[in-house]
Amino acid sequence: MKSGWVEGDAEALVARGAKSGIGPDLALLIYATRLLGRDRKLVLHGGGNTSLKAKTPDVLGEETEVIYIKASGADMAEIEPAGLPAVRLLPLRALRARDAMPDQELIAFERANLIDPAAPNPSVEIMLHAFLPQKFVAHTHARAVLSVIDQPDGEQKCADAFSGRLAFVPYLMPGFGLAKKAIEVFERTKPSDGLILGKHGIVTFGADAREAYERMIEMVTLAEDFLDRNVKKRTIVTRWRDPEPLAAVAPIVRGVCSQQDEKLEGAWRRPVLEFRGNGTVLSLLQSDLARLSEGGVVTPDHTIRTKNWPLVLPPAELDFDKAARDAAEKFVARYRDYFARHNKRVGGGKIELDPLPRVVLVPGLGLFGLGQTKQDAVIAADIAEEWMAVVSNAECIGSFEAMSEADMFDMEYWPLEQAKLGARTAPPLAGQIAVVTGAGGAIGRATAKAFAAAGAEVAALDIDFAAASEAAEAIGPYAVAIECDVTAASSVRAAFDRVAETFGGLDILVGNAGAAWQGRIGEVDEDILRRSFELNFYGQQRAAQAAIKIMLAQKTGGCLLFNVSKQAVNPGANFGPYGIPKAALMALMRQYALDYGGDGIRANAVNADRIRSGLLTEDFIKERARARGVSEQDYMTGNLLGREVTADDVAQAFVHLALELKTTASVATVDGGNIAAAMR
Ligand SMILES: [Zn+2]
Repeated sequence: MKSGWVEGDAEALVARGAKSGIGPDLALLIYATRLLGRDRKLVLHGGGNTSLKAKTPDVLGEETEVIYIKASGADMAEIEPAGLPAVRLLPLRALRARDAMPDQELIAFERANLIDPAAPNPSVEIMLHAFLPQKFVAHTHARAVLSVIDQPDGEQKCADAFSGRLAFVPYLMPGFGLAKKAIEVFERTKPSDGLILGKHGIVTFGADAREAYERMIEMVTLAEDFLDRNVKKRTIVTRWRDPEPLAAVAPIVRGVCSQQDEKLEGAWRRPVLEFRGNGTVLSLLQSDLARLSEGGVVTPDHTIRTKNWPLVLPPAELDFDKAARDAAEKFVARYRDYFARHNKRVGGGKIELDPLPRVVLVPGLGLFGLGQTKQDAVIAADIAEEWMAVVSNAECIGSFEAMSEADMFDMEYWPLEQAKLGARTAPPLAGQIAVVTGAGGAIGRATAKAFAAAGAEVAALDIDFAAASEAAEAIGPYAVAIECDVTAASSVRAAFDRVAETFGGLDILVGNAGAAWQGRIGEVDEDILRRSFELNFYGQQRAAQAAIKIMLAQKTGGCLLFNVSKQAVNPGANFGPYGIPKAALMALMRQYALDYGGDGIRANAVNADRIRSGLLTEDFIKERARARGVSEQDYMTGNLLGREVTADDVAQAFVHLALELKTTASVATVDGGNIAAAMR
């Protein structure tokens, strides 16, 4: 590893800090913390921490000795001064007199000693930093270091790799006990550069930020060299028989990792998936996977993101569905047994977390990260890849061995770790994947946004890729835009494969792509009628078929929603070419409701009228209003309620239908009241 320290950048940050009252030491701590945080070989997703001991005036203006420490769960890569709360140092150090300190008491004590009472909670590793005498302390879970120390003879390997420059602290759960043990080892052995925390990570220190940072880089480089020098065996990648394609495998994986919601009949708890299939993943998937997958996490704080073990599925070949389901059931049974045994060991009182896997390995294909959101799934996949890298290197020089099962349980069920995930109340469509066709138009865009706001992951499909991209970007980084021409079977197939590859499956389809053609029915060109049917009927049918295929593979129900027009119920003069396929679409919706109700798949429609959109442009509104001799406003509000209906109103109706678990074959009217278009 090379040092990323650039003196000019460091000085620039110091100069910028000076303008907002941040001293040079704190500015350099921020600089070093970001450098460490931005290297994925050192820390991932909120892992690791840094600290500085300094003086700062308290509320009375009195110079006070404090420790600036990274806040719990904060991301080092993006750290700001607010993510480094200052805590009075002397009271913390006085705690050395205590033999033990219960978590809640410790947190209350830390909070009582914050200089800013509104600051976030300090890292759970604050006491380790506070007890060490050095001014700057850095702690990471560096990949190469973990490969060296996650071994049965980790202490010996550590002595060899770091030539005694780091003292070895045997594994203890992070927190007060580990801090006491670490300072005891430090005072006894007086290491020059830092500490190794067995089965956990590395600590380096220094008189200034650069020294602590560069020692970290140097020590990790020593670990890398040690790995290179000691390679005994390497796994050889041989080619697998071609597995089933990802788009076919992912919905099965997602389905077997879903659970029926016991509190709400017809509801499912489904994960969102993130797939990875690179070389390391595939090579490890060929090695002694059964043994390695039982090995556990490479460092304690990964357990909250990945659980302790991945679910290993059989290769994605014939009868994969049944084999995957059996394996998932065994995983859940084993997790429940693990919980019951260890809950008993600690005297009971823990509440079991959901028993479903967070990482799924499919030999020959790759790995999946699972989460309640796409973001969680990405984090789980990143950590799973890290696990693979550490384990495969550990196996090259010896044999991988992590913390004991009991230690992993204590970590997984430690309230302070769970707190890092934050108290979340899931939005109503959390974990669901929604596809909106025609997402580039006014109603499509509003609908995509409304589903995202209700917690769903969204794929925005449109024939106009730029318009789809705009819709996806308005939602956020995890929404995906896909070009899709619903009149072309191959385009629909490719788009729905992309959805399954990106999110793992699909739960809600909003069939919204459409366009209006006009003509007096007895005289209209047959070609016009056919073009309208091609888009407004067959386009919807193609998308619905593609969605059904994924839903049936998942076996977790689903929801089809169609945008039928008022024309389907109450035809307008000379609108036959548009209204007739829309009437057929309403029949299509009913047919889906009938044919797939037994699979838990619902089909419903929204019957909307007079919405400003690509179909009802400003010019068109002017023309209609003039033709009827009314103002534009009167034209737009010409309904029983006298209120203009908007794209957002239609979007909300779609979301409501997605939430109505006991409603199928229904048409929701969103038109402000039009008695001629009212459904019987
Ligand atoms: Zn740590």
